[in-house]
This record gives sequence, structure tokens and C-alpha cells, in this order.
Amino acid sequence: MSAARLLLVNYHYLRDPSAAPFPGIHPMALDAFGAQVGDLAGRFHVATPDEAERFLLGNGALPRDSVLFTFDDGLREQGVAARDVLDGRDIKALFFVTSRPLTERRPLMVHKVHWLRAHSEPRQFTAELESQLPPEWAADRMDTASRERALEQYIYDSPADAILKYRLNFVLPHDVVDRATATMLRTRGIDERVFCSDLYLDREELRALVANGHAVGAHGHSHAPMSGLGPGLDADVKRNVDCLTALLGTRPRWLSYPYGRNWAIPRDARALCARHGFSLAVTLFVGWNLAGEDPALIKRINPNEVASFAGAA
Ligand SMILES: [Zn+2]
Repeated sequence: MSAARLLLVNYHYLRDPSAAPFPGIHPMALDAFGAQVGDLAGRFHVATPDEAERFLLGNGALPRDSVLFTFDDGLREQGVAARDVLDGRDIKALFFVTSRPLTERRPLMVHKVHWLRAHSEPRQFTAELESQLPPEWAADRMDTASRERALEQYIYDSPADAILKYRLNFVLPHDVVDRATATMLRTRGIDERVFCSDLYLDREELRALVANGHAVGAHGHSHAPMSGLGPGLDADVKRNVDCLTALLGTRPRWLSYPYGRNWAIPRDARALCARHGFSLAVTLFVGWNLAGEDPALIKRINPNEVASFAGAA
């Protein structure tokens, strides 16, 4: 018999895909989520966060190949999914929560971009964003090599979308896009505090998740890519940890790196975890985990990758 393995599956938006007028968000409908959970729970052991932690650290075994469900960004619809899908099956999951929406009532840059793209004609969004950027970050300053890299990186997108995504992820500084998108929301008469109340789990809802046996992990304060925070990285993580500890009465033991890809992971990932008391940190490097993985680089897949890694036999 081969050793048991653990697959982490991560979810973001769980809502009706046809709800927004334009693409920009790639959500999973709650029904589809329920079906995927049912399918995986039927074929694998569903680990609790504590069981997964012991297994990954080499302190405990899993009965057979197992899955752990995780959720990034602390969205309100994830609380609904927990209540309507997970709690009835007695599944305990792991929710990674950023603190800026809780303490500053400011939404994350990535969600402002998603919302604006989902509610704007594509060319209008790009033109409006470009018009808000300081001149040193203008699109026509992008060199040919960067354009080529953008097209290589996003092979499933149109060239215009590929360049936009590349600029958002790799070229434009997080705070520059953060400011530009805040202005774009304001221009549409949207109050960032109301946006936060609509989108994110509030303090009571987070406490209720923990009371129901789910675990909450850290996901950064600002949700800026940790690789790009420089000397501000520790302060960003500490604000997140302090907020969650004060709110929930216990220090988070798991961290999820915002964006989760190689380009976004801090160089000293292991040392960062040690400094802030995390026993495990999760990425979006795909694949199954074995006992004894690098605890600072735990693998995790998206729902659309389940068929490749855990397809029905
Ligand atoms: Zn995130």
C-alpha cells in the first residue's frame, strides 16, 4: 500500500456566474461547489485543518488519500457555502482572511479590479484605468520584451487582456493600482465601506465560523504580493496576525500567500513563517502533498484543476 496523500482545494468566489454583466470574475456557482464537495467527500477522506496540520508536519497519519477544503479572501459567500454545504456534512475547512477590509474598511485591490471589470465594457475599464495612472506607469512605456512575456504568460487570454493582466500583476506597483481603482469606484458613487460590508465576512461571521469548528488562517493585511513588500512585509503580516488573534482569541497557525504563485512568494518564506509563528503556509503550486513537504510551500489546487489531479477513477 502506498502512503496516503493530501490534496488541498482552494475556492474564491462562490456565486452565480451569470450575475455580473461582463466577465472579470470567474466564480463557481454554489450548486457546482456542493456537487464538487460531494464528489470529493465520496471518494476521499476529508481532513480537518488539525488533521492536515499533523499529517503535513509528520506528526500524524491520514487513513487514506484525503482532501482539505480552503477558502481565500474571507468573502461573505464563503460563509454561506460553509453553512449550506459544509456544516451539514460536518466538514471542517480553512478560511484565509485579510484584515484591511475589517480594520480599515478598504477593499482589496484585486476585488476592486474584478468588480470594475465585471461592471465595465472591457475597453472602457482599460481606458479608465490607464487614465488614472501616473504618467511614469503609462502603457506606452511598456517595452517590447515585456509585451512578449505578457503574451507568453497568458496564453488563454486575448492579447489585450494578456497585457492588462501582466501589467496588473507584474508591472504596476500594488499601491498605484490600489489608488487608481479606489478613484474608479468613487467616480461610480461607490463607498468603499459599503463595498466591504457587501463583500466580506464581518467579525461576527468570522467568530461564528470558528465556533462551528472551522479554522481561520492569515492572508496578509493589504493582500499585496508578499514578494514585493520589501521591508514592509513583517509589518503587513503582523497587522494581519494581531487582528485575527484579537478577534478570534487564538493565533493563526496557517498562512496563505496572496496570489500563491511563484512570483508572489517571499524569498525567505520559511524564515517569515518562523518569525510569525505559522506552522504551515500554502501556495498555488499544484499537486498532492506527502507527509514531510516543505511546510512553507504547501501545494494547493483550484477547483478547475480537480479533474486533472483527482478525477473520478
Ligand atoms: Zn487572496
